[in-house]
Amino acid sequence: MKKLKGINFSAFVLGSRSNYCIDKEVSTITSLQRMNDACITKIKSPNGCIFYQKKKKIDCEAIRDIEDLRKEGLTNKACPYYLSRDLLSSTQIVFMPYNMLLQESTRESFGIDLDDSIVILDEAHNLIDAINQMYTTVVTFENIMNAENSLNSYFTKYEKKFSGKTKMYLKQLQMILNAFVKYDKKSQESVITANSLLNQLNISHINVFKIKSFVDESGLSNKLIGFNDKNNLKSEFANISPIQDLLDFCLSLMNSDSDGRVFIENNSFKYVNLNPSIAFEPLVARCKSIILAGGTMDPVESFVDQLMPNLDRSRFGLFSCGHIIPKENLIVTVIEKGPTSKPLILNYETKYRLDVIDELGRALLNIIQVIPFGCVVFLPSYNTLESVLQRWEQIGILNKISGKKKIFKEPTEGSNVTNLLRDYNRTINLIQQKPDASHITGCILFSVVGGKMSEGINFSDDMGRAVIMIGMPYANLQSQQLQEYLLYADKSAPKGKMTPKRTELYENMCMKAVNQSIGRAIRHINDYAAIIFLDSRYTQKSIVSKIPKWISNQLVPNHNFGPCFTSISKVIAAAFLI
Ligand code: SF4
Repeated sequence: MKKLKGINFSAFVLGSRSNYCIDKEVSTITSLQRMNDACITKIKSPNGCIFYQKKKKIDCEAIRDIEDLRKEGLTNKACPYYLSRDLLSSTQIVFMPYNMLLQESTRESFGIDLDDSIVILDEAHNLIDAINQMYTTVVTFENIMNAENSLNSYFTKYEKKFSGKTKMYLKQLQMILNAFVKYDKKSQESVITANSLLNQLNISHINVFKIKSFVDESGLSNKLIGFNDKNNLKSEFANISPIQDLLDFCLSLMNSDSDGRVFIENNSFKYVNLNPSIAFEPLVARCKSIILAGGTMDPVESFVDQLMPNLDRSRFGLFSCGHIIPKENLIVTVIEKGPTSKPLILNYETKYRLDVIDELGRALLNIIQVIPFGCVVFLPSYNTLESVLQRWEQIGILNKISGKKKIFKEPTEGSNVTNLLRDYNRTINLIQQKPDASHITGCILFSVVGGKMSEGINFSDDMGRAVIMIGMPYANLQSQQLQEYLLYADKSAPKGKMTPKRTELYENMCMKAVNQSIGRAIRHINDYAAIIFLDSRYTQKSIVSKIPKWISNQLVPNHNFGPCFTSISKVIAAAFLI
């Protein structure tokens, strides 16, 4: 937004109440749902919200980020949240998070009209995951019990004051809750369709959409929270509308039966969306054009298939360009055998084989000798990371690595990432300043593909002169959720059978995660790095075809470690001028 200032067009950031509310009480509420309810209740109360009452016409030509609008609201004592909504129709460019764009109910509640608009989705490689996450809903058994308890007490206390209509909706809600409470999950299958669950619960005749409208209009969620507070029905759910999760889950059950599955787990019901096109095709139908922009969009074909299965392909255009770096700034190699000629392949069968783990350790130890400064190593999962490091510690490999690189490991807690990266960067900066002070030439950071380091964190310049990929992060084929995704991708064969279409999707999922991770090191035109795959499967044709062209075009497979190590150390030395 700062870069756009001074340019002659209007733009602003559409945000939620948590971004924009300036009311002292409401703005401190931590749950967004509760904040929304509290705002509506306040506006409707006899005193109202003083910021809501004061409307102001504001200049549409200026470009505003969240801070600008908040300042404007505070100066004029006018609610920035409602100011932002007023700006929608008159502003040329509106920035908004995925969920506001992709959920029809949210678009409607904000009054976002997509007809004839141009939509640009940045970081679009995350789109399918984002949609699936957005459309996945979970309600826990504890939450259901809590909601039932709260609603029953509320109903008993105020029954005489309720209108006939209110009573009817509250009774329907009680009926739904009661059906969930009585549901005998032990006697049922653990994965079922939405319709099966509705029938088993015997609630398919209830119109959940009408109940949802009633709850929204009456502010029932917030009233129940207030009622709980007053009557000491407090629980860990004190800040959450007790019926909100249940309603969201029930609304998911209204989707087309084939588009999702219900997973009945130990302590929850979970609805998983299998069809990301339900969120995306309405955009395709309404927008003038949509631009999906991303750095790691490969493999594009499967992406388009999942998001826009009904799109006339003549309407789809692909523009793909190489990376801006000169090709000598990137070294890409697959090393198929380790220093003692053992094959390097860490898969489901070999992940506990000590000879394989030891050989990988020896290969890594050799490679880091020639990599200057930072080196990021990715492994397929947290379990594999732990077991591999444990073994390398036992046989002294970690100790030898620590003689050359200071060792860091991805933290399990997200809150520790900032501190770890600060220490990692600081160590490399110190080594840059005093290169001869010790034999340590940099840092090595052990991370997990798809973990906290594989997206949104840049290892540019000396922070990442090599990304080393050990193994392939295939998802667990035993996972029921994955099985349902694969079944959805190809309904022609029974569940559990790998057809070419399913294999393709399965590989795509894996390679999407790999591509995210290997793109961490090259971040600008003058950057340079090595990408080293320590697993022979990265030479397979179908796998290479899923690596972005700017990387795969440079890929050199190396069958044997000795000659390969000599050649890569020469190339690295020449390329990196060390
Ligand atoms: S009207 Fe605006 S300032 Fe008032 S409570 Fe709602 S969001 Fe907050």
